[in-house]
This record gives sequence, structure tokens and C-alpha cells, in this order.
Amino acid sequence: MSTKLPPGLDQGTFDLAIKEMAAVVGSEWVFTSADDIDLYRDPYSPRRGQPDESIPSGAVAPDDLEEVQAIMRIANKHRVPIYPVSTGRNLGYGGAAPVLSGSLVLDLKRMNRIIEVNEEQAYAIVEPGVSYFDLYRYLQDNKIRLWVDFPGPGWGSPMGNALDRGIGGYRYETSIHWTQHCGLEAVLANGDLVRTGMGAMPNAKTWPVFKYGLGPDIDGLFSQSNFGVVTKMGFRMTREPQALMSGTVIISRHSDIHKAIPVLRQLIDQDILRCAFGLMSPAVEDAYKLDYPEDGPFWKLMERTEQPSDAEYDAFFTAAGKPAWTALMTFMGVEEVILAQWATVKKWLGVIDGVSFQEMPITRFPLSEEQRANTPMKIWEPSLSAFAMGTRVQGWPNASAGHIFFSPIYPMTSHDILRARFEFTHVLRRHKLRTVDANMAVLADRYGGIIMGLRLTQDAEENARVRAAYLDLVKVGAELGYAEYRTHAMFMDDVVDTFSFNNHALLRLTETLKDAIDPNGIISAGRYGVWPKYLRKS
Ligand SMILES: Cc1cc2nc3c(=O)[nH]c(=O)nc-3n(C[C@H](O)[C@H](O)[C@H](O)COP(=O)(O)OP(=O)(O)OC[C@H]3O[C@@H](n4cnc5c(N)ncnc54)[C@H](O)[C@@H]3O)c2cc1C
Repeated sequence: MSTKLPPGLDQGTFDLAIKEMAAVVGSEWVFTSADDIDLYRDPYSPRRGQPDESIPSGAVAPDDLEEVQAIMRIANKHRVPIYPVSTGRNLGYGGAAPVLSGSLVLDLKRMNRIIEVNEEQAYAIVEPGVSYFDLYRYLQDNKIRLWVDFPGPGWGSPMGNALDRGIGGYRYETSIHWTQHCGLEAVLANGDLVRTGMGAMPNAKTWPVFKYGLGPDIDGLFSQSNFGVVTKMGFRMTREPQALMSGTVIISRHSDIHKAIPVLRQLIDQDILRCAFGLMSPAVEDAYKLDYPEDGPFWKLMERTEQPSDAEYDAFFTAAGKPAWTALMTFMGVEEVILAQWATVKKWLGVIDGVSFQEMPITRFPLSEEQRANTPMKIWEPSLSAFAMGTRVQGWPNASAGHIFFSPIYPMTSHDILRARFEFTHVLRRHKLRTVDANMAVLADRYGGIIMGLRLTQDAEENARVRAAYLDLVKVGAELGYAEYRTHAMFMDDVVDTFSFNNHALLRLTETLKDAIDPNGIISAGRYGVWPKYLRKS
């Protein structure tokens, strides 16, 4: 029996709802024991074991669309708050744990059918429980030469990641995964079923190829939100290129970022550079390692109250004896074209003093089995190598496995890149935190972002500092005009609060929609700050 009830629901009503749901899915797919519930807690929670940790009342795992509809009708009738997850691996942003403690997790992992992959038109239609690994294996097994853009961990799902507007990598057009979805199917709170885009026309041949359909474009209502349970989604996929190569640009002097960024923007605008890429500083990376001294020179710079000057940064990076910036870029397409693109990158950036370049050999497709096995960096193959970050693998004292992400976005200018790195690192120093991975600026299209992983430990006091620092980061970001693109379930209200234009007009609008579409407020209460009326603070 569950130990945590949804707020306002008595045990009898909850038990009745669970009994009715068990009759739909089979009792083996309804989970209310403490051991089972434990699996739906957030293993990366900064409040794990604390009184305010969000704990589900249970979980239910339907196998198909009709079962989802039946469960939603039962939940709506009994006012049971439901928290749908696809593969539920949203680690760093809240895991499978609901925003509202006591919600019942709707675990869609069993709905893992790949409904269609169309090689000719380069799309796939999937159910929520299909993981990146599943899709990749299907493509390999069926010798389909399409790729899907994926995030760090390959065990997540195209659907869950896209709905949370997750990001990946090899081309900036595909890197925000929500932009690659094309049409979706969702069950509403009352069990009604809706298809968006061209999918609203029965037998539409264009559902997964033309996104907009006719009339208002409502797909956005289903991402980072709580308006429905998404049960199918189309995805545009990338055709395997003829060739691929990667090259690294190495910029020795720190202040040359002011020259490099305008050139990089030109390279993007002229369609030379089409990948999202990270801008790293190896000497900063060193500072985040365990053996870097607490009073080391990088921290001294970051503890200053004012951003250091270009000359001071140059002196630090020269003394560190490492290049100030490196950027790994990927080019894919026709061999002659990618060679010309890389040559243009070298020519345009090569005018900056002290810039050098390293390139990897070209990979030509299709690969034989042997070539595939021997290729070291397979950017087309999902993996779990991202888990090499985190306190446990790096041997931190009191390590836990986890971290929470702080993910602000800013314009792609050298001024903003330096400002963001300084101000956010400064906040962490003020909170006496070293346990963070924060070196990388990801640049794509017209924006940059730092994905800061604030590492958690088993020390409750240190985790409390992480929580306080997070709130400070959000505040400082808002003052600078840098908002997060996505946030951890625990901090959604705080981040949404910074989107306050015209007395929170945007939130007031989404609340109005919420009241109309889900009047009993049963779906993902509180997700991205949208609470149902009965739980709304005035
Ligand atoms: C080391 C590490 C590296 C990471 N790197 C990246 C990265 O590179 N890029 C990135 O984007 N993320 C990254 N993450 C975060 C996270 O692991 C991924 O985003 C992951 O894909 C999300 O989990 P999921 O796909 O299982 O989504 P889920 O957990 O299933 O879904 C996410 C949320 O979307 C909503 N949702 C999901 N499915 C539905 C549905 N069917 N209907 C309605 N609402 C739904 C729910 O609120 C859910 O909580 C990283 C995490 C770690 C630990």
C-alpha cells in the first residue's frame, strides 16, 4: 500500500482508483509498494531523503492507447493527479519523480512500439517507451540508413527528450529535438484522443512530413507542459551522409574570442558550419578536477567582484600553458563539400594569430561491420558514455551519482560567453561550491548556452548549498537577461517566475488554457509552473 497519498485525496478513493486501474492494465502493472515506488523516486534529487522530496503515490504502466485512455478517465473521475513519463530517465532535471509529490506516475515504458520507419521520406513514428537504443538497434537490424539525433544518455526516449525540449548534437538544425518532431497524438485529461498537424486528417499521408497541418499550431502546448499524455510522435530523421569528418580549432590567446566569434557566426550564416559545437577551455576544465587547489588561480579570478580584464585572462591562460579555447566541429555530407567547408573554416579563422587546427580522418558511408566496430568516435551511435561525469566516477569525497543541471541560454557574442562564465561561476564560489562541471559553452545557430552540472554528494549540508546556489544562479541569470531553456522539476516555479513580463501574462495565459483543457487539473500538476486551479497560489 502506498505511503504517500495525492494531496486532498482520501485513502478509500485512492484505493478505489487503483483497483479500477488494475482492472484495466492487470494488477501486475500497478505499483504501490514502497519498494516499487522507490524506483520512481529521483536518484539525482538534491532533496533525496529530505522532508520535501517529491515521492509518487505509485505508478501504473499501460500497454496501449486504449489502456491510457481508460486510466485517464478513471483518474479524472477520482481526481487522481497523474504524472506521465516516457522512459522516465530525466536525470539531472528530476528523473521520473513528479513535480507534485503524491502524483501517480503513468509509466509509458511498455508502449515501446516502433510504428513506422520510412527510409525514403526519412521519418519514424514511435510510441513513448521507445528508447534511442531501441530505435538505433531497429535501424541497424533492418539496415536502414537513417540517423536519429540523440542526447548524452542513449537509454532515454526520443519522445520524452523532445517533450522536455532536450538537446543533442551533430547538426544545429536537429540538435533541439522538439524541432525534429512532426505531428503527435495525445490523450487529454478526459480520455479524448487528439492528433495534431496533418495527422488530424484521417488517413493523412503527410502526418510525419509536414508539421503544421491547418489552423492554429497547437503542438507546442504539449512540450514542457501538462496538457495531455502524448502517445505517438513522428520524427524527422537524418539521412546517413556520404562522408563525415571532425576537426578541432585551437585558439591559443583568450582575448581572441572577440575575433573568433564574429567569424564563427559568419561561418554559420554562410552555411559552412552546420553543427552545434562546444567551446572548451582546457585550463578551466583542470580547475574542476579534484586535485585543483582550493586557492588556485582560476578560482581567484572567479572570486573577484568584477569580471577580470582581457589582459588578466590572457595572463592566466598563458601561465596555465594550455590553449585558451578549443572547438570540436563536425562536418557531414558530400565529401567534396565537407572538405571545402573545413578548408573555409581554416582559412577564415586562420587569420587569427596562433590559431591551429587538427583534423580526424574522413569516415565514408556505408561502413562495413568491421569498419563500424573499429571507428573510435561514433557520433551516430547512442551510448551511456555521458555518465563519465558526476561525483562518483571522479572520486569526489561523499560522492553520490548525481547532479542537477543549470542550463542558461545567451546570445552568441564573446561578451555574453565571458559574462555568463564569470557570473555563474562567481555565484558557485560564493556558495563555496566546487562540485560542478561548467566548462563548456555550446554554440549553435545564434545562441550559446552553458550546461552546468551541479554535482550532489551524500552530505546534506553541501546539497543544501547546491539548492541555494541554484536559486541564486536563476536570479543572477534573470538580472543578466539569460533564462534557462529547461529546468529541474524542483525549481520550475522559481524559473517560471522570472518570465514575468506584464505581470506574468504568459503564465496567466497558460493557466487559462490549463483550466479549459484539464479542468480537474489531473495531468502533471505544477510542471513548468502551471498548477491546476485547486493548487494555485493566488
Ligand atoms: C550524464 C547525463 C548527461 C545528459 N545529457 C543530456 C543531453 O545531452 N541532452 C539532453 O537533452 N539531456 C541530457 N540529460 C538529461 C536526460 O537524461 C535526458 O534528457 C533524457 O533523455 C530524458 O529522459 P527521458 O528521455 O526518459 O524522458 P522522460 O523522463 O520520459 O520525460 C521527460 C519529461 O517529459 C514529460 N513527458 C515524458 N513523456 C511524456 C508523455 N508521453 N506525455 C506527456 N508528458 C511526457 C514528463 O514530464 C517527463 O518528466 C543528461 C543526463 C545525464 C545524467
